[in-house]
Amino acid sequence: MSYNKPLPKLDPLTTPFWEHARRNILALQTCRACNDAHLPPSPVCPKCLSTDQDWKPASGRGVLEAYAEFHRAYWPGFNDDIPYSSAIVRLEEGPLMATNLVGDTTNARVGKAVEVIFDIVSPELALPKFRLASDD
Ligand SMILES: [Zn+2]
Repeated sequence: MSYNKPLPKLDPLTTPFWEHARRNILALQTCRACNDAHLPPSPVCPKCLSTDQDWKPASGRGVLEAYAEFHRAYWPGFNDDIPYSSAIVRLEEGPLMATNLVGDTTNARVGKAVEVIFDIVSPELALPKFRLASDD
């Protein structure tokens, strides 16, 4: 079965993110000089401009910053998912992440705690998505 939704295009800067995701780890590029965790990855730290950076696992937890329920498919691959939710999550480490809110969204509200899950879409790619945290 082929996957017919848009997929990320990997490049040397983003490949470590996707390699972690494939192992069900949400990782953030983190500056060794000032410890800033950022997303998207950057050739230099956006805070202190250091090039000394590493990849560190994030907690996988965050807060729902914004979300919208889509009732129209803009790609045929989404036809069976309608309605689906796109979301902006504020990760516990600070960065904002564009993602999907999945699972039961009945109680979704801005400010609610969310946790990452991984949607394995191919042998190479697992997409980080979020659901409402069970303990919220
Ligand atoms: Zn830095």
